[in-house]
Amino acid sequence: MFCRIVAGEIPATVVHRTATTLAFRDIDPKAPSHVLVIPVAHHANVIELATDPAAAADVLATAAKVAELEDLTDGFRVIFNTGAHGGQEVSHVHAHVVGGAPLGPMLSAQR
Ligand code: AMP
Repeated sequence: MFCRIVAGEIPATVVHRTATTLAFRDIDPKAPSHVLVIPVAHHANVIELATDPAAAADVLATAAKVAELEDLTDGFRVIFNTGAHGGQEVSHVHAHVVGGAPLGPMLSAQR
C-alpha cells in the first residue's frame, strides 16, 4: 500500500523526500510527532531491507533528517515493527520516527 503513496495514488503529508526515500506523517499518530520513513524500492520488512545496505542507510539518514526537521532535540525513537509478534500491519518496510514528548517505557512489562 505504501508503494501507492510513493506513486502518488494515495495522498500523504510528505515531510521529506529523497531520490530513494519518502517520509510522511502517520495517519494515526501515537506521539506529537509521528513520521513514517520508507524506501522507494519495495522491501517487505527490515530483514529484506538489510539485504540492500544502501537503501537501509538511506532510510536511517532520512530518519535522522526527519528528527532534525521535526526539532526532536530532546530525543525520539526509531521503530521497525516486524512480523506478527512485532505488530507489523503494512508489508512495505517503514521506520516509525516518534517523539515530541516523553515516550515512557519502551515496552510494557511481560505478563
Ligand atoms: P505498522 O503496524 O508498523 O505496520 O504500522 C503501520 C502504520 O501505518 C500505522 O501506524 C498506521 O497508522 C499507518 N498508516 C496506515 N495507512 C496509512 C496512510 N495511508 N498514511 C499514513 N499512515 C498510514
